[in-house]
Parts: sequence; C-alpha cells; structure tokens
Amino acid sequence: MTMITIDSKQSVAAGAVAENGTSASYVDPILLEKYDVRGPRYTSYPTADRFHEDFGERDLLGEMGENKYSIAPLSLYIHLPFCNTLCYYCGCNKVVTNVRQLVRKYLDYIRKEMALMRLQFNVYQRPVTQLHWGGGTPTFLDEAEMTELMHYTAKYFNLSNESQRDYSIEVDPRSLTLSKIDLLRGIGFNRISIGIQDFDPRVQKAVNRVQNLETIQEQVDYIRARSFRSLNFDLIYGLPHQSVSTIDATLDKVIALAPDRISCYNYAHLPDRFQPQQRINADDLPTPAEKIRIFSHIVARLTAANYLYIGMDHFVKPTDSLARAKAEGKLCRNFQGYSILKAADLVGIGISSISSFSHVYSQNHKDIQRYYACLDENRLPVAKGIALSDDDVVRRDVIQQLACYRQLSKKTIEETHKICFDSLFADALTMLNRYREDRIVELSADEVKISDKGTPFIRNICMLFDRYLAEPRTKTPTFSRII
Ligand code: SF4
Repeated sequence: MTMITIDSKQSVAAGAVAENGTSASYVDPILLEKYDVRGPRYTSYPTADRFHEDFGERDLLGEMGENKYSIAPLSLYIHLPFCNTLCYYCGCNKVVTNVRQLVRKYLDYIRKEMALMRLQFNVYQRPVTQLHWGGGTPTFLDEAEMTELMHYTAKYFNLSNESQRDYSIEVDPRSLTLSKIDLLRGIGFNRISIGIQDFDPRVQKAVNRVQNLETIQEQVDYIRARSFRSLNFDLIYGLPHQSVSTIDATLDKVIALAPDRISCYNYAHLPDRFQPQQRINADDLPTPAEKIRIFSHIVARLTAANYLYIGMDHFVKPTDSLARAKAEGKLCRNFQGYSILKAADLVGIGISSISSFSHVYSQNHKDIQRYYACLDENRLPVAKGIALSDDDVVRRDVIQQLACYRQLSKKTIEETHKICFDSLFADALTMLNRYREDRIVELSADEVKISDKGTPFIRNICMLFDRYLAEPRTKTPTFSRII
C-alpha cells in the first residue's frame, strides 16, 4: 500500500508559480466576489432547462433517421440510479433502496431500451468510442449484474477494442471491492472516477457520507496496479463545516494520492429544489467570503502541486490525456464534463439520460414508472428535448470553443457558420469590454481570449453568448453559483 506522505507546506501564496509554469494567481478574490453570479455549466447548449415537453419520441426518431447511415463513432451513457444511502448534498436523479430486486427489473428495461435504440442505427459500423456508467451509484450493482449489463451492451452496440477508447465509471468507495475493480477492468473499463467529496470526518458526517482514507488508499493502489488509464477524484467545496484549514488537510491527502484528474464541484445549497439538502443545517455552511477563500486555496494548492487548471472546476496532471487533448485542439465538453473524444452522437440509456445528436437534445423520463410505461408500449422513453435552430448551433460552437480552449477565432466561426461575428454578437462584444478592463479577457480583431486570471470566469464569459438567458421564462432555473 502506498504510504501517504504529506507536504502541506507547498507554496500556496497568491502569485506563486507552480513547477508546470502555471500561476497560482489564477485567483483574484476581489474579482471572484465581483463576478460570483449563478450560471449554467454548459455541458450542453442550449442548456437542459430549455428542454420542453413539445419535443417527443417522434422528433428524436426523425433526427436519428437523418443520421441512419452515419458511420461516425458513438458515445454511450448508461444511468444506474440506485444508491444504498442518501448523501444530504445530493442533487442527482437516484433511487435510495436496499431492495436488490429493483435492479433486476431496471436492467431488464435498460436492455429493452437498448434493443429499441439499436434499430435506429447503423450500429455495427458505429464504434462506441466512449462509454460511461453514471448514477446514482453504478457500483451498487453486484458483479453478476455488471457483467450482464456489459454483455448485452456489447450485444446491441459495437463496443470498441481500440486502446484509445474511453470507458469510464463513477464509483462509490463504500461499495467498491477489490474484486469489483478486477471485474471492471476485465469487462473493459479503463477510467475510474471515485466520489471522494471531502476527507474531513466532521464534514463527512454532516453530509451522511462517511468513508475512510485507508480504504480509498488501498483502492487507489489496486486501481493503479490494474493499469487503468486514468483515475479521477470528485471533490466538493462549500459543504458544511468546511474551512480553508479543513480543505487544506483534505488536499494534503488528495495530492498524496495523486489522481490524474480532479473535478472540484461547487456545492449549491438549494433545499427547496433538492429535498435531501433540507437535512443540511444552513448555519453550518461556509459564508460566501469563506467559500471564495476555500476556492482560491484549492486552485493555489493544486496548481502548486503541478496540476493544470483547465477550467470549469477541472484540474489535470500535465501527462493526462485531457491536457494533451487541450494542447492539440481536441478537447470537447459533454454531459460528463470535459472529454478527449468528439463522438458525433451521444446515446443516453436509462432514466433521466440525455441523448445528443447534431440538431437535437432528448431527455428520458426521470420518473422510473413513466420510463417503464413507455418501454412497455415499445416506445422510446422521451420526456422532453429541444431541436436546435441554426442560431443555437453557432452559439453552441462559440461556447464550446471558449469552455474548452479559452479562446476563439472569429474568422473560423464566420467561415464555419457563414455569419458575421461582430454583427451577430455585437451585444456580447460590448459586454466583454467590462471583462477586458479587469484583464479577464483579451480582445483583438480576430480573437476573444480568456486570460489565466479569467479561468474561474469561463462560465461568465460563455453566458454572454447564451441567447436564452435574456429571454423571459415561466420558471426561473436554479443554476449553481460560479464560485
Ligand atoms: S450523491 Fe451520489 S451516492 Fe450520494 S445519494 Fe446522490 S447519487 Fe447516491
């Protein structure tokens, strides 16, 4: 087992320059306070709050019909909603249960959905280059269930054998055994993401997710020995009882365990929307000012530890494929965050899953009974979605460029979409001047470029190009805060 050695005395001072040449001055607390608004994370554009129920199965089938003879690679997402216990910060679509028979039934319906989906595609000529099991807790499944699921995924889709494929799973260390790690590697996964959230016992207790360091340490060693291509840790900041000093102690352990990627999410306390959060005492949450200090500290410590801050809460080692993809201009964003492979279409299977094709997004029912009822009638379980207009497609491209590369060439956008950038985005360019004054962006005749200092504000900049934010709505969306 790796012994964790802690070097908590690394330079974390603002302005410190890390070994990788990046600067910890990514963070300016005054700007964080000034630009801390609520905003989308842009895993899609238009964002999911714009999906509507006028969009249905027929629209999805129509779009898939247009692409019927495509041979482009596919991305596949499978949602496994079951969890043993409830984490109080949870905002996911999940089913907390101890009744294992529920899994049996769900797997049967997933199989049925795959069988229906498969009819729409030229499946055997479309290699699945990306596969992701998310949840819920995918490791709630036992080994036989995992094997069965992968077996019939391979039956209905063309799973790739390429070493470059990207097959990932979210795991909960409390339901991950060493034997499951062996199995996951054996059935084709090459990436694992562990839900760490925080190592502090008091924080863990307050959010009802108690998991110990030694178990995780053993799992990390075992994962490394099994040659998974990459290991990700999910962390959350803004949880009850967190402070700069508690997060510093958690980061000591995280840095010592050295995951290839770290996703550091901002906890959004929305108890009216997410019932589990009502069990969190709002008085125990860090104040907005403390949260900014915590975030600044995270960025400073991780960049000092040689992680690259690629934006939107994501940090990667310079050797990780995401860092290389970014350097080569191949990074993209999808519903799982940043990704190295730009599969043409995404097929989402299971409750609440989102599918994405060139001109539509389609989301399955979140309610499990409605999901089952559609499949009982041999219908795809579409609850809502959106057909993209030409304007949406241009803006999606602009937002992808900014989110992935922090810069865009107006000329490239103009040539690709046959538009005049300065005229279509005149309002956005005017509003960008404010960010230029704060040195968050640099503007030239052809380029919009977000500076290192502007990295925490990528969402703010993307929001300027989001047409829908200015439109009236019947229901106000509850986006998380930038910080
Ligand atoms: S946070 Fe994840 S593991 Fe916890 S209840 Fe929600 S879905 Fe389940």
